[in-house]
Amino acid sequence: MHTNNTLEIINGQLLDCTGTPLRHADLRIKHDRIEAISAPGSRQNGDREPANRTIDAAGLTVMPGLIDAHVHISYGEGRTAEEVDVYGGPEWVALRAAWNAKKVLHAGVTSIIDPGGTYFVGCAVRDAINNGMFAGPRIFTAGRHITADGGFADYFPSILGLPASAEGVLCSTKADMLSEVRRQVKNRVDCIKLSGDSQAQETNGTAGPCFTDDEMCAVIGMAHQLGKKVTVHARYAKTITAMVKHGIDWVLHASHLPAEDMGIVRDANVALCPTMTFAHNIVEFGHECGSEPGHINFRKREIEGIVETYRRVYEAGIPIMAGTESGFSMCPYGEWHAKEIELLVSLIGMSPMAAIQAMTINNARAIGWNDHVGSLESGKVADILLVEGNPLDDVRILQDRARIRAVFKGGVEVLREPVATRPRLGHERGFAVSTHRLRRDAETLRPYASPM
Ligand SMILES: [Zn+2]
Repeated sequence: MHTNNTLEIINGQLLDCTGTPLRHADLRIKHDRIEAISAPGSRQNGDREPANRTIDAAGLTVMPGLIDAHVHISYGEGRTAEEVDVYGGPEWVALRAAWNAKKVLHAGVTSIIDPGGTYFVGCAVRDAINNGMFAGPRIFTAGRHITADGGFADYFPSILGLPASAEGVLCSTKADMLSEVRRQVKNRVDCIKLSGDSQAQETNGTAGPCFTDDEMCAVIGMAHQLGKKVTVHARYAKTITAMVKHGIDWVLHASHLPAEDMGIVRDANVALCPTMTFAHNIVEFGHECGSEPGHINFRKREIEGIVETYRRVYEAGIPIMAGTESGFSMCPYGEWHAKEIELLVSLIGMSPMAAIQAMTINNARAIGWNDHVGSLESGKVADILLVEGNPLDDVRILQDRARIRAVFKGGVEVLREPVATRPRLGHERGFAVSTHRLRRDAETLRPYASPM
């Protein structure tokens, strides 16, 4: 019986995600950290204590666990804004999120960034996982998205405002925004999420963000003063450039950024996270899943904008982060994470290496975790995937559960028993009679379904 708690992974092909080409290497892991990486067989048996466990990884790629920069762990695969924002209740939403976290980890995603959600569910799930209560990825989480009246997350009529259960929190004045930042930090968020676009921008490309310059400066400044990073939902150029000017740490979406606005982002070296998978799924499968045609068209235009923008972003050398927007019905937990890597290659034209780095080291760097996750180097945490084949030849293999032979988090192999699907309970469902309207053809009197 050994008590030195060491693991060796030998003879594998190492994809360390530092940018170094694939090479054969042996890894020695002690407790939760990588102790040493060496050429195969170069360390003689006599040099060191025998390991508790040795894995022969011949034919396998040894790479860091994926980091999905855009997972909303509290959304519970909701089908509508109402299902995310209104239904379920805090107790249920928290338990549901802990259960969903396991699916994310099983897919080989060992860390996530949760840019906003309902209540403080992200914090509770993060703490419960770190406390050893549940299996799940490492979580870097925001609280509710801070928005102003008519901001992106201010979905409901003003007579309702945003209920306390909503993903967004409506702050009508700068004083309210600052209080909300302090309150969220007190409640242990890792970062602040702003909902920066205005609804006016959805119909008028020249409109600006929902916040004033003064508000952006104050809110981002307060978060930084309290030691927290700030991210923003910003699809449109005026929001993106204003947020960058005021010191935002990274931008989610940045779907429409013309060439003349690229310089300010590049000079500030702010990372952008396109988030294509969710939109792509709606375009590809929305007609089978009851998405409205108008919404499918909106997503098509979004993808077109992202492709145009990010080919330029990639060429300019602006850091690209990879995230999926998992947490909605069209992007369920644990199923689509590595799809984003494929889309970065197929739509944006990134090299497989750069696309995989987008979903590992780039995400770690954006949140300041790059000293312990995001690449495999000695001294870093042993969050490791063993993958059958070479993802640099075909990045799609990372979406194939069977080819991810093992997932290690902190040097411990994750037990990946199948997670059953569960029925959605009545109290977490929105009320809808149908997804389409029943019509009758005037001539034949035959009923048919048409969009609402
Ligand atoms: Zn999101």
